[in-house]
Amino acid sequence: MFTTQIKKNVARAFARNGLVSRVERLAPELYRVVIRADFEGVHSQVGDKIKVDVGGGMRSYTPSRFSAHGLEFIVQAHATSAGSTWVRALSPGDEIRFFGPVRNFDLSLPNASERITFFGDGTAVGLFERFREANPQRDIRGVIELSREDGDSLRGATFLGAEVVCRESEEYGDALLNNARSKDWRSAALVFAVGEAESVKRLRDFFLTEAGFSRHQLRLKPYWSRYGKAHRKKLERTM
Ligand SMILES: Cc1cc2nc3c(=O)[nH]c(=O)nc-3n(C[C@H](O)[C@H](O)[C@H](O)COP(=O)(O)OP(=O)(O)OC[C@H]3O[C@@H](n4cnc5c(N)ncnc54)[C@H](O)[C@@H]3O)c2cc1C
Repeated sequence: MFTTQIKKNVARAFARNGLVSRVERLAPELYRVVIRADFEGVHSQVGDKIKVDVGGGMRSYTPSRFSAHGLEFIVQAHATSAGSTWVRALSPGDEIRFFGPVRNFDLSLPNASERITFFGDGTAVGLFERFREANPQRDIRGVIELSREDGDSLRGATFLGAEVVCRESEEYGDALLNNARSKDWRSAALVFAVGEAESVKRLRDFFLTEAGFSRHQLRLKPYWSRYGKAHRKKLERTM
């Protein structure tokens, strides 16, 4: 608790300014935010995060693109949370305060021949985009779970190179799990699962117990939890 407060204070104290240059509504509740900021001399890798001041606090997002002159990230809005209200109202010309990018999730690929499958929800779209663009020579298959409304608004069954599966109920992760169950995993090598914490856990359990994977073939990152932040952090520690 005390450490969390220190981290929040550090993020606020070292926050920098950026200028929103574009907000693109990719789907009804999925927004690409493009910001201009000076990153001269700053290094960033795939899997880094930023913390953005959304008015009601700092929220974590993942740069989907990064250069010396700015970055982009993709936000999955939902209900009336602080981050969602903030992104829906965002316009070009707005100022934004954020901390980072800082290291978060290791997506390095030491073995050049491994086939990769990436499972994620709307919060993982930006990470998937950057991961794929950073590894154009690799065979990376993506499966992204979106709400039915967001999924139906996209033209075609793929989105940014990933297969889209739609959520048919309140249960996050069912569509990802059904997709995983429908595939033959005998020749698969490395699986990433990113997004809602219980969904990531259910995918982990499937791959370990039903698909015969070992733990080192899985890279797991809970980005949020339907049971709140403490639950996400607990699962992150134990995965
Ligand atoms: C390292 C890291 C990187 C991340 N990158 C991204 C990113 O690139 N894009 C992105 O959209 N998100 C990303 N997230 C997730 C994002 O930080 C959380 O979803 C965050 O809670 C959103 O803040 P909020 O104000 O919308 O909701 P909060 O006020 O934090 O949460 C309110 C309640 O809403 C629920 N909730 C939170 N997020 C969602 C959601 N997405 N859908 C449905 N219910 C939700 C929870 O039950 C929570 O208790 C990332 C998280 C981490 C840890």
